[in-house]
Amino acid sequence: MTTMLEVDGLGHTYQGKDGAHTAIDGLSFTVRAGELVCVVGPSGCGKSTLLRTIAGLVRPSRGTVSLHGNRVDGVPADLAVVFQDYSRSLFPWLTVARNVEFPLRGLAKAERVARARDALAAVGLDQAGRKYPWQLSGGMQQRVAIARALAYRPALLLMDEPFASVDAQTRFELEDLLLRVRREQDTTVLLVTHDIDESVYLGDRVLVLSKSPATVVADLDVHLGGARDQITTRASEEFVELRARVAGLLQGKQATRQPVHK
Ligand code: ADP
Ligand code: MG
Repeated sequence: MTTMLEVDGLGHTYQGKDGAHTAIDGLSFTVRAGELVCVVGPSGCGKSTLLRTIAGLVRPSRGTVSLHGNRVDGVPADLAVVFQDYSRSLFPWLTVARNVEFPLRGLAKAERVARARDALAAVGLDQAGRKYPWQLSGGMQQRVAIARALAYRPALLLMDEPFASVDAQTRFELEDLLLRVRREQDTTVLLVTHDIDESVYLGDRVLVLSKSPATVVADLDVHLGGARDQITTRASEEFVELRARVAGLLQGKQATRQPVHK
């Protein structure tokens, strides 16, 4: 498989009024095309900083980010980001369909409309195109944000705790939605979360981050297969073992970069 993303020696230090604060330090990992990689770490460890540097929104103090071989220096064109806070990520004065079309401004009108319709159908919102975001529930608004990212057809989809602001049932639905669309559309995804179970349930790989400043303490393969189910997968031996392993690593036990093999 070809390498989609390469992060090498990445570090970032914020310069504030009360001095310097190193959020991430010496992060190195790769994501191959078609993979869904979850990054798990405690709140405040630097996950959002990591995603912002990959997205070119923050210039890293040290190290490099490359997207299919090209060094990221500014916001790459073929990348989309889904943030945690759906209430601030959609334009309230645009309909749902217009929100999804918004990043497609460079395309012909017919193409924009068709892509928005397909993306909204993929997230189960084919009836909602003419509504406004504020007429929808939180879970539906986050679906719109996901549809907008998918309609753009990015080479890499970055997700920053995308399901952390919805209720538990909606979170399960959105997790399964993500697994389905990435299979159908063969999307490469890097998702950060503080939720251990979510990282194992969704990931082909789980990168475990240390406390701030974040470094990669483990890079674990997840052998749960493609067809996952909220009830049986979460009860499986592999899942239970892996989540215990990630929990142990987050508590600072036995750092390793070896994949888990049964
Ligand atoms: P996470 O997403 O894992 O919760 P963040 O990347 O948001 O972590 O933050 C990591 C650390 O960097 C925190 O201590 C946070 O306070 C600090 N930080 C984040 N953004 C800024 C900023 N713009 N200026 C200064 N410090 C920041
Ligand atoms: Mg964050």
